Amino acid sequence: AQDPEPGILTGLNESQHRAVTSAASAILITAGPGTGKTRTLTARIAYLLTENQVSPDRILALTFTNKAAKEIQERIQTVGPQGGSCVTAATFHGFCLSMLMAHDDLTDRLLEEDTRKELLKAALVQVTKKTTGQSRLADDMDLQISLCKQRLLGPEDDLSDAGPDPVLLKQVYAAYQQKMQDHGGMDFEDLIVRFYQLLIRSEPVRTLVQERFAHIFVDEYQDLNFGQYELVKLLAQHSRVFVIGDPDQSIYGFRGSDHRFFHRFASDYPGCEQIVLTRNYRSTQTILDASFQLMSKSRPDPGTQKIYSQVNGSRKLIIKETATETAEAVAVGKMIENMMGGMSLDAINARKNEDGEDTSYGFSDFAVLYRTRRQGDVFANVFQKHGIPFQSADRKAGFDRPQIQLLLSFFRLMTRRASARDVQGLSTHFQSQVPSETRQIRPERILGPVWDPVRDKPGHEQLAVMARFLKIEKTISRDPLAAAAYDRIQALARVYDDPDEFMNRLALDQDSDLLANGVEKVSLLTMHAAKGLEFPVVFVAGCEQGVIPFARTGGACDNPAEERRLFYVAMTRAKDLLCLTHARKRQMFGVRRKMQPSIFLTDIEARLTRQETLGRAVPDKKQPVQLELF
Ligand code: ATP
Ligand code: MG
Repeated sequence: AQDPEPGILTGLNESQHRAVTSAASAILITAGPGTGKTRTLTARIAYLLTENQVSPDRILALTFTNKAAKEIQERIQTVGPQGGSCVTAATFHGFCLSMLMAHDDLTDRLLEEDTRKELLKAALVQVTKKTTGQSRLADDMDLQISLCKQRLLGPEDDLSDAGPDPVLLKQVYAAYQQKMQDHGGMDFEDLIVRFYQLLIRSEPVRTLVQERFAHIFVDEYQDLNFGQYELVKLLAQHSRVFVIGDPDQSIYGFRGSDHRFFHRFASDYPGCEQIVLTRNYRSTQTILDASFQLMSKSRPDPGTQKIYSQVNGSRKLIIKETATETAEAVAVGKMIENMMGGMSLDAINARKNEDGEDTSYGFSDFAVLYRTRRQGDVFANVFQKHGIPFQSADRKAGFDRPQIQLLLSFFRLMTRRASARDVQGLSTHFQSQVPSETRQIRPERILGPVWDPVRDKPGHEQLAVMARFLKIEKTISRDPLAAAAYDRIQALARVYDDPDEFMNRLALDQDSDLLANGVEKVSLLTMHAAKGLEFPVVFVAGCEQGVIPFARTGGACDNPAEERRLFYVAMTRAKDLLCLTHARKRQMFGVRRKMQPSIFLTDIEARLTRQETLGRAVPDKKQPVQLELF
């Protein structure tokens, strides 16, 4: 056996070690953030491969993000006689896609978000016979249908308790499914429903799959929905299960997750071993204390979940007020520059390693977290203007760029999947870009010598050829968001050379997939996308009433308890320093609004924080950029 990655089995604490080596058939780890849950899960896989000689193809690890799955895969790559690469580590959706490809005659394509939404709207129009003023209803229907699918309910099932108008829902749901079928397509949630139904329907497939996976691991079990929960139960009939989670971090209730499944684990798997981890290896005690003060408001007995920091450092949290959202982004940028420049002694001391060597920050050590995507745009614009390198986990922003849309349209055209909209977009582009004499020539003919969809796989070289042909190369590289999307497309094309699988995997991509590890850039991401991640310095932006906790215009917050947990997730991503910023005024839903600091800030004791309030605005001549902001 090769040596496992150094450290993968060493340095575990006693409880982690017990979790890694336990012989129990079901194991439940309940523990707070940063206690090494995911690390313990990975270590156990390594342990099974090396010490118990379990064959890698008998191991299944289900995660919430592609990024987490990839990290598990990478860490166990070199472990065991055959290497860990045959271990299946995937998201629920990714796993179901692989299984449907292997065991079912899967010809339907996973529809891209835009196409899917169009079909849903068309279904709604067909049922209601109304063509306008339906967009809010379409969004509601979309959510309701997705929630039905998560409960494994089809349009033919009893939906009487689903949504405010079950009769309409049933009709729209049925019409939507029909339209997708006519289109040869399916949506995201169909993956889980279909695989689950396949297992129920086909005894041979069920037996094969159940017997294959002797060990099933689930990360973030607190965020399972009913379908995922039932799927795990069905898969795990004869296998050993190891699940980890933290009910305080359940943040997907709005999308159908239900942390009650987590609490039900012990009765679902009688005789399960329950392990609690209490040491936190991520954050300073100050950050943990502040986070616990926030959560203690919602917990009957805060003492039971107490965790203790193993990390040195005691920097106070910074709570910073700014005039506007732009000033907020400027202030965060300045703080980053200061810390980078070694201006802050504190920061440097906090990062000194055991030898006293200075290991001050790099751009990749910083993350800015926010509640709504729009806030991210402000940071991207300001950082771009001020030359602060950043990467944004906003898939939509990158993929909506016209250049990227064109590239994908062209890809679909060359692989005979183009829609009318693709063709329209391309012809407009050609009319503006291509010399008049070639306007009439079909793109297939021009690309013909280098690209034959029958002969050639649409590998990354072909995508590069397409980008050159479309003359969008250059414009992509000037635009960081488009560049990130393009890199991601290229990375997927390197792995998946079958056009259908490539497009399906692309549709399953998530925001956090756009964040590359080890690049010298500040990460911009939503609080939701930050789940499971960690950064030395974290800025949580927009800590204002109506932003976090979030509320629609004039409306109340839908789920204050979940918003609180989300804020807790955001705070506990920080290792050394946590900075919470809020603006006095902000553009929201198209209007400039006066904002109040988030109620969550008042739950943190003043002794743990350093407050930087605006006071009266004093124009500073040396910093002209701030003048316009006050
Ligand atoms: P979250 O709830 O946020 O998902 P988690 O419980 O999954 O957190 P991990 O991400 O696994 O926590 O670990 C947090 C950090 O602590 C990681 O950097 C990890 O490498 C480190 N860590 C965990 N256990 C140990 C240990 N025994 N020794 C040293 N570092 C550890
Ligand atoms: Mg984790």
